Amino acid sequence: MSDFRSQLPAVHVLLAKVQDLPHAAALAAARAVLNKARREGPAGDWEAAIRDEVQTATAPHLRRVINATGVVLHTNLGRAPLSARAAAAVAEVASGYSNLELDLESGARGERLAGVAPRLQRMFDVEGALAVNNCAAAVLLALSALAAGKEVIVSRGELVEIGGSFRIPDVITSCGARLVEVGTTNRTRVADYERAITAETAVILRVHPSNFHVEGFTEAADRAELAALAHRRGLLYVDDLGSGAREDRPGEPGVATVARAGADVVCFSGDKLFGGPQAGIVIGRAAPLARMRKHPLYRALRLDRLVLAALEATLIGIEAGEELPVDTMLGHTEKTLRTRAASLAAAIGPRASLIAANGLPGGGSLPAVRLQGAAVAIAGHATQLVRALRTGPHAVVARVENETVILDLRTVQPSEDQTLCNAVIAAIAAQKPTQ
Ligand SMILES: *Cc1c(COP(=O)(O)O)cnc(C)c1O
Repeated sequence: MSDFRSQLPAVHVLLAKVQDLPHAAALAAARAVLNKARREGPAGDWEAAIRDEVQTATAPHLRRVINATGVVLHTNLGRAPLSARAAAAVAEVASGYSNLELDLESGARGERLAGVAPRLQRMFDVEGALAVNNCAAAVLLALSALAAGKEVIVSRGELVEIGGSFRIPDVITSCGARLVEVGTTNRTRVADYERAITAETAVILRVHPSNFHVEGFTEAADRAELAALAHRRGLLYVDDLGSGAREDRPGEPGVATVARAGADVVCFSGDKLFGGPQAGIVIGRAAPLARMRKHPLYRALRLDRLVLAALEATLIGIEAGEELPVDTMLGHTEKTLRTRAASLAAAIGPRASLIAANGLPGGGSLPAVRLQGAAVAIAGHATQLVRALRTGPHAVVARVENETVILDLRTVQPSEDQTLCNAVIAAIAAQKPTQ
């Protein structure tokens, strides 16, 4: 091997080729390109290699993607697209100062949650409301503030794992509380809770199973009876609803109904319920919420101004009767989806066909629900094609079923249809040489 390393150009020679680029970025890129050349041999076109390197180094990892999976609240894809109102509120507050903790009227210290707590209280007709980083944080804060050193009673049918290793038994332990399991996987009665109460009990906890569904011989304790039991015995009743529901549905009481049944603390996800930013919402009685607000963990779990801006704007939109992007997606009819899928399939060409598809609400909400819609199926080379779609200039995330790429239009915003179409055509064209 003749030593090409000694033949490599000097850094200043390379920098001379890219004088239009900012010096620091160009220098870092030139060094990276030279390091690579030492390992793998000289670049064919030094200038192009440096420009590529600068591009790669300045491209953010986190970027927008088109969700063609049909899963509306897709946790891996950031759950909910924000409303235009919420996105504008974030942009407005992001680039300047804000009255985050200043009361503009009096000039005195203000309350961080002044824009969201009163709205939540009105919306759910409750005494108090808090917002923290996510629902996991809400549960952690509730149990840390209300049950540390004491016992928490939970049904064996609700000792669930939510994902990302949020397991109810482990959460209870990490809050310094002791788990007391009652009942069975499929049936737990109020009497089971009652028998388990000791002088050490602090909280009766109910947890929404969220991502699974038990059918058959099942029974769960009535919430109003559980709340009455807790209060009779001087305990608190905490309900982790996960997604929650804005209105009562068969088998799924709304958040306000759960609060009215007597729950002292109700936790749910702001992004799951409202289609807003990631946030954990706590509503309920004033006294336990004040204890949570004073706990040191609250400071660690509180919301920053960007999320608060998005959350407040989302709540304003809901109060004003505006439709959220998530609701629009859930509400698309099969007919409109079929029309959009048919024109996408026609534009893609002979490999594409229109198929019926079932979307999912996602986010651990309504696990048994399927949303009837339409999708485009693209035959052949599925593994290669989904990858090309994901890694293209406009990232597209799609499903693969039976060696076929499926593009479900429910979660594609109509304004993204053309970009999606172009991305698919480009990804298919790029595949041609290897076919
Ligand atoms: C989703 C969920 C959580 C966690 O919510 P995040 O907002 O993702 O932290 C907690 N509990 C239940 C029952 C859930 O469904």
